[in-house]
Amino acid sequence: MGLNQQTAAGLIKMINAGTAGAGDIVTDTLQRISDVDKKVGAFIDVAGRKALLKKAEGAKGRLAGIPVALKDNLCEVNRPTTCSSRILKGFKPPYAATVVRKLEDEGAILLGKLNMDEFAFGSSCETSCYGPTRNPWDLDRIPGGSSGGSAAAVAADEAIMALGSDTGGSIRQPASLCGVVGLKPTYGRVSRYGLIAFASSLDQIGPVTKSVEDCALLLGVIAGHDEQDSTSIDTPVPDYTEFLNSDIKGLKAGVPKEYFVKGLDSEVEKAVRSAIDVFKKLGVEIVELSLPHTKYALSTYYIIASAEASSNLARFDGVQYGYRAAGAKDIINMYSSTRSKGFGEEAKRRLMLGTYVLSSGYYEAYYLKASKVRTKIKEDFDRTYERCDFIITPTSPTAAFKIGERTGDPLSMYLSDVYTIPANLAGIPAISIPCGFTGKGLPVGLQILAAAFREDIIIKAAHAFEINTDFHKRRPSL
Ligand code: GLN
Repeated sequence: MGLNQQTAAGLIKMINAGTAGAGDIVTDTLQRISDVDKKVGAFIDVAGRKALLKKAEGAKGRLAGIPVALKDNLCEVNRPTTCSSRILKGFKPPYAATVVRKLEDEGAILLGKLNMDEFAFGSSCETSCYGPTRNPWDLDRIPGGSSGGSAAAVAADEAIMALGSDTGGSIRQPASLCGVVGLKPTYGRVSRYGLIAFASSLDQIGPVTKSVEDCALLLGVIAGHDEQDSTSIDTPVPDYTEFLNSDIKGLKAGVPKEYFVKGLDSEVEKAVRSAIDVFKKLGVEIVELSLPHTKYALSTYYIIASAEASSNLARFDGVQYGYRAAGAKDIINMYSSTRSKGFGEEAKRRLMLGTYVLSSGYYEAYYLKASKVRTKIKEDFDRTYERCDFIITPTSPTAAFKIGERTGDPLSMYLSDVYTIPANLAGIPAISIPCGFTGKGLPVGLQILAAAFREDIIIKAAHAFEINTDFHKRRPSL
């Protein structure tokens, strides 16, 4: 078994025991990237071998010598950071995202940048200006999105761990479709400083890993208050690995009926129902729940997220960053032709939708109303925590679909996130963990949600499930 196939926790043990060296881990990982990434297309930029080996030599800290890859919307000093968009072509940030700095402080070896849907708009990794990433389990299928590169790289053993960002499901949905673990932390748990913003009230950065143990480890490194992000919350960061191997007997798990309706694939439902049985066997009491405002979540999200995106992306106008269209007659013409040529189709659709819902006369009818419904959705969750400790649902209504299958129909694409979006609107944490496979051998993910700042409960429940099942051990054959 190559060192690249290990988990971070496994490698840390080996390094401490002297049975693996940080240099060998880098070498095996880079070899894997050169062997399979032509097929998978997870990376859009890989750091130089020499520099990585040099870093590995002196690495110290909780992630010393562990190769970690980053979604292309996280700023790294003087390294390409483009959000997979033409408009940011050539952009190299002068500063590092707080999470990137924290990884470096703990000795992680930053491998490079991972493909994503342009500006994180999407669920399939097909809107990237670099072309699609492919699902390591079936190269004709999408890896999910928008952090498709993060999930595919980890699933294909091209990175030991990765970071993604999640605005409406972008960590959890690709994790589910690629058979890996992905966590969206509570809003405010992780600093967003240096994450190129999509929708500032929804975005969170989180871990994509091969195991719940690694997820706990990585969350502990990136979490915490940051003066550079006024929405990051000043509450102590526990050692999340302390919640591993906990007895979950006596805990209560809610199963919301609104998540088991038309549109849910029967094989996915079967895997999730069996997962619920595993929890029962572990002594968890299952409680039937209702989250009555779930049916409004998707439309609420597309109004709020697009509105915030249209305002955040106004800064990309050809003046300060990246691409500028040539041959403009005047400044207005330069803005419009830069934005017309720089943004892809889906980005333009979102920006127009967002501008529309914020415009005078429509603001009250759309944006303000959506904000009120958002509160209702949050209150649905608040009520459940009086009755249960965590909630279990499918992560995505279907397993990975074929490349090209949904690109012509934005609405069917948007539906991939019906089960993940509510957590972002409510600001609560949620994880996706592997819970089964379809008849075609495609991974199925289980979502576990908890109240704000209760990542501890999520880690307990997810780890108990993981150590009592084998789904996370299966790897794709590439
Ligand atoms: N797929 C959703 C969207 O397109 C969520 C994306 C995300 O979480 N960044 O907006």
